[in-house]
Amino acid sequence: CFITFEGGEGAGKSSILQALQKRLYQEGYDTMATREPGGIEISEKIRQIILNPSHTAMDGRTEALLYAAARRQHLVEKVVPALRGGQVVLCDRFIDSSLAYQGYARGLGVEEVYKINEFAVENCMPDITLFFDLSPEEGINRIAENKLREQNRLDLEDLTFHHTVYEAYQKLINRFSERIKVVNANQSFDKVLEDVYNIVLPYVHT
Ligand code: C5P
Repeated sequence: CFITFEGGEGAGKSSILQALQKRLYQEGYDTMATREPGGIEISEKIRQIILNPSHTAMDGRTEALLYAAARRQHLVEKVVPALRGGQVVLCDRFIDSSLAYQGYARGLGVEEVYKINEFAVENCMPDITLFFDLSPEEGINRIAENKLREQNRLDLEDLTFHHTVYEAYQKLINRFSERIKVVNANQSFDKVLEDVYNIVLPYVHT
């Protein structure tokens, strides 16, 4: 079962992902947690190139292609073997991040970005995607409070950018309404975890 986690900055998806993995593992589900861009050596290196704060000259299409390349390598090297081995795969970001960030927010066009990602993932799509719903303002506040998070090039973006990302996700939720489930991320950590657990449970059983 392939489960992806999506949302804007500071929505808490990464911490919930770790906690969910722990819980599923304790209950006997063979579960693997990973992230994008990254998760394996080649893709973590691509991540460093993409997110390096000094790479301000990065062209939008170059960025989109690098994300797709990192995704492809991570998928074939880590995700697909884990799925074949019967593991539950929890992945922090996937194709929807590219559609939202590069397709909509960077203005490259969602269909164009979809095409290069279709090439990258072939038909390997998530069984379920969790969207962590939190207003961009609240997300930015949380990041400002949490200095532990790694700094990256996206931190230079203003609130308008994050609003565009949020609107982009709303469009994706409408388009892929079967696959994407909305999680209210503006609740206590334990409540969000409980909601997420209840959503994924029927899927990890199969
Ligand atoms: O998930 P995480 O916050 O670690 O993502 C790292 C950064 O990469 C974030 O700032 C996110 O907005 C950005 N990103 C992006 N396009 C993607 C995936 C991530 O701009 N396709």
